[in-house]
Amino acid sequence: MASYAQCLVCDDCGREFSLRDALNTCPACGGLLEVRYDMAAMRRGVHSLASCEQTRSIWRYGQFLPPVQEENIVTLGEGGTPLTPSVHIGPALGLKHLYFKNDTMMPTGSFKDRGFSLAVSYAKEIGVQNGFTYSSGNAGASFSAYASRGGFRALVCVEYVASQTKMAMINLYGARTAILEFERFAQIEEMLSRASRELNLYQFVNFINPIRHEAMKTYAYEIVEALGCAPDAMFHPVGTGGGLWGAWKGYCELEALGMTDRRPRMYCVQPAVTAHFRQAFARGEREAAPYGDPTQTIAQSIAADSPLHGGRRILKAVYESDGAALGVSEEEILQALRDLAHEGIAAEPASASTVAALRQACAQGRINAEDTVVCVITGSALKQPAAVVSACGVPQTRIRADFDALRALLASDGGRGGKTSG
Ligand SMILES: *Cc1c(COP(=O)(O)O)cnc(C)c1O
Ligand SMILES: [Zn+2]
Repeated sequence: MASYAQCLVCDDCGREFSLRDALNTCPACGGLLEVRYDMAAMRRGVHSLASCEQTRSIWRYGQFLPPVQEENIVTLGEGGTPLTPSVHIGPALGLKHLYFKNDTMMPTGSFKDRGFSLAVSYAKEIGVQNGFTYSSGNAGASFSAYASRGGFRALVCVEYVASQTKMAMINLYGARTAILEFERFAQIEEMLSRASRELNLYQFVNFINPIRHEAMKTYAYEIVEALGCAPDAMFHPVGTGGGLWGAWKGYCELEALGMTDRRPRMYCVQPAVTAHFRQAFARGEREAAPYGDPTQTIAQSIAADSPLHGGRRILKAVYESDGAALGVSEEEILQALRDLAHEGIAAEPASASTVAALRQACAQGRINAEDTVVCVITGSALKQPAAVVSACGVPQTRIRADFDALRALLASDGGRGGKTSG
């Protein structure tokens, strides 16, 4: 597949590197690498989007992603998820155009599949045959699935706080798995950066791997195609920030390509107990310092006391887009989880946090009634079953399989379920 990607460029020293080299961070200075595209060629090629109907997956946008030949693509049909209009939450908040980007419907149950389909395919393309990631749970499962499917050896270190289900899914898909013990995120970061420098190890951790977050551009592409333009506001749960940053890069490209006349305000969402981005944002800082205790939140997938590389890309997107970094309480997250479920979407707590943050942003006057707003629902409730029980408990009523018992149950429920009660 042809690609408009040209090279990798270092955020810090500006050096350029070939896309054929198996690089993580910048070999010269350790900075983060970003894929650069030939925007003029992209502009000439953008019309091909409309005619490219073979697939709904992220590979529909293959030319706008780093180069991968057809035979190296490892896909499970990731992407192309519904942009579902809100029927309850939006109206209750006085919003006319609220949507949920429902990535709970991804092959392994989380939005991580966009990134791993691309990153594993690309790794095959450049001849890498094994790799490593650390994970809060969903990344490990996704990596494991795509690696096994692609005939690729995966090693995953999964945070000890991850649900048993997430850990077991990583095993199930076939990766070699170890549970990662730590007290502070800085220990993980030190481990990863030494591994980059001292071992011949190709990593799939967001940002250390320069390819994964490119796939998150496909949010922007899919949403702009569905709405005809970019939304006014996008809420994204943030762990490393790969999802938010990738989406922002996509919106910036689409604006440069003339596909949309605006870019959304980006809202970075974290649990209040670890809201280091909110701390930095409140002080107008460009880098976030460690803050909080990740063991104190139910939102496992976005629980980290400090950001990778100071989270500079995330804060840049928030400032440039005129968005904000928000922190939501545990009660707000559980309420949002229940409310989303009444829309028919069962989300894990990290994903429901976007709805909690939207509510806050409305209360703070950051959102207008006419705004088009997208909350990204990144992962399925099924991955964290204990959280579902925390949110609503198990049913308390029990009856015998007996006609009279059913009749009594219906009567006690005000006759709901009857033919005429609607
Ligand atoms: C990984 C994850 C996040 C955070 O994504 P980042 O790209 O690391 O910011 C949010 N929600 C869910 C469900 C996740 O699995
Ligand atoms: Zn550099």
